[in-house]
Amino acid sequence: MKLSRLYSQVVRLGKACDPRGKAKVSHYEDTAILYGNTNADIKKIMVGIDIEVGELMLADSIRKSQGLDLVISHHPEGRAWARFYEVMQLQVDMLTKVGLEREVAQQLIDERMQEVARRVMPNNHMRSQDAARLLNMPFMCVHTPADNHAYNFIQCLMDKEKPDRLQDILEILKSIPEYKEADKNLAGPQIILGNPRRAAGKISVEMTGGTEGPRDVFDKIYKHGIRTLVCMHLSEEHFKKVKDANLNVVIAGHISSDTLGFNLLLDKIEKEEKFETISCSGFRRIRHHS
Ligand SMILES: [Zn+2]
Repeated sequence: MKLSRLYSQVVRLGKACDPRGKAKVSHYEDTAILYGNTNADIKKIMVGIDIEVGELMLADSIRKSQGLDLVISHHPEGRAWARFYEVMQLQVDMLTKVGLEREVAQQLIDERMQEVARRVMPNNHMRSQDAARLLNMPFMCVHTPADNHAYNFIQCLMDKEKPDRLQDILEILKSIPEYKEADKNLAGPQIILGNPRRAAGKISVEMTGGTEGPRDVFDKIYKHGIRTLVCMHLSEEHFKKVKDANLNVVIAGHISSDTLGFNLLLDKIEKEEKFETISCSGFRRIRHHS
């Protein structure tokens, strides 16, 4: 498979389960070919959640011993990291789906995007891309197209299973191999707000859209009937606001949810293309048969 073909497949499949609907999306700011010839033939890929200089050195050593054509980082690097917050725009549609007015949602997201932009500004965002260039190692990052898959999968599962209580959400999550594996390594799904026997009520799944959304949204989504959030992670500042809004929170797990989304995306690409994967940096290749 050509590198350019892999990129276009990733974007196409990401769009197919984007909360905004296909038509509104042309590309993802946090997904890019960072280094490499787009005509290169890709047969073996090393996939990791975070790829830094260390993983690229590892990849170079693997390339020497057994061959390797590409390294993919889930979390954005290079220019995709510098502007990743622009994908947060999709959270406007997620909030309007919950019931917020579009203008209110847009204003909240605009403010939060600017905050995240200021936070990203000082980062040394070209560091690992520079290492890839020096090693002549084809390098790519795939963020939101994978997270969209995790979001879609978990939201559909919750809609179908309709868990009664918070403990039922945990059980459903723990039946998924990525979360089962994380649980073995002491990073499984956890309830961080609410009693396990408390009613789950209406559930909102927050697993895509770049990073955590605005902090002043939780009382609003409570008013629109949401009672439980199922998310990848929650910052301490967000935690305080969620607690004040009286919402329940189930943390599915960060790296495990990232892994789930990436596996679902790779499953689809594998249906049409043949390639080998090597897992690293928290990622585990697990095939889902749907
Ligand atoms: Zn992540």
